[in-house]
Amino acid sequence: MSENYQKTNEDQVQRQFHDRPPKKIDISVVVPLYNEEQSLMPLSLAIRDALDRMNSTYEVIFVDDGSTDNSLKLLREIHRKNRRYKFISFRKNYGKSAALSVGFQHALGRIIVTMDADLQDDPNEIPRLIEKLESGYDLVNGWKKKRHDPISKTIPSRLFNFTTSVLTGIRLRDFNSGLKAYRREVVQDIKVYGEMHRFLPVLAHWAGYRVAEIPVVHHPRKYGKTKFGMSRFWHGLLDLVTVLFTTRYSKRPLHFFGGIGLFTFILGIAIDLELTIEWLMGKTAISNRPLFTVGILLIIVGVQFVSIGLLGEMITRSNGIEEYAVKEKVFN
Ligand code: UDP
Ligand code: MG
Repeated sequence: MSENYQKTNEDQVQRQFHDRPPKKIDISVVVPLYNEEQSLMPLSLAIRDALDRMNSTYEVIFVDDGSTDNSLKLLREIHRKNRRYKFISFRKNYGKSAALSVGFQHALGRIIVTMDADLQDDPNEIPRLIEKLESGYDLVNGWKKKRHDPISKTIPSRLFNFTTSVLTGIRLRDFNSGLKAYRREVVQDIKVYGEMHRFLPVLAHWAGYRVAEIPVVHHPRKYGKTKFGMSRFWHGLLDLVTVLFTTRYSKRPLHFFGGIGLFTFILGIAIDLELTIEWLMGKTAISNRPLFTVGILLIIVGVQFVSIGLLGEMITRSNGIEEYAVKEKVFN
């Protein structure tokens, strides 16, 4: 058997198993969706109109997150009409992060764009996002500057964005925007799980990628309704703690716990010291000062926080392995 023959054969097998066209694609548009039947057709047309003007090769990957309406049927139909539109359909609803993660795994593009399926994000913004990306960034976030959502959503969202920005040290105005453009390496590097999609720019920033933000237009929801209720804010805040923990402080837990611990400890000591001085100077008895108990409580809590931090340090030390994000390696 000639070597050449064997090679072709291998190629064919590869193709059968991976079901991937060998050609390179410029842009992959990844669209997570959950019960968005009315939006899918107009969305597909709008994406086509926007991308056909760009003179790049592209694919659109719909990830159906376990829809129970006619979404899957429509995706089949869209795919039949145009093979650039691909889809993956989950058996059940796993959440937006899961959908994005699977979309990323399948995307072939050099650039990956994500957008919501509900027609709130505008595909006409894709060229601008990509232009910004090409000007020297790894992730470009779409900031919904003039947002068309009810006030019950916009105000908590502002609070969320502000808190996240302060605690993570990355200046973005709209972390949770569905419209974003990434260089391929970013989505390959960063793992999205739970509801971590809200923090993709944070994770990218911490891994050393260059993150930018540009304002984009946003439309009111036309069909269907929002998939996230009030629970989004509690989940969002808890996820923020997880993100801070598993990335920023995972290597130095004492900085997190110790910081809080030292603060409460010192505050407790100061309060009780002041009360003791007053008592020594004969002003009042300590026993009738409720603040005394508060001081004791702060001291005990402080000691506990520092101890937890030290335990954390011991655990990370014994785990050993550290991971570092490598940009380039020349090693020969
Ligand atoms: N979505 C999803 N899985 C879910 C919830 C939402 O794939 O479990 C999709 C949804 O179909 C939409 C996008 O995520 O394309 C954003 O959801 P939604 O518009 O409800 O969020 P909002 O605009 O209210 O923040
Ligand atoms: Mg929406």
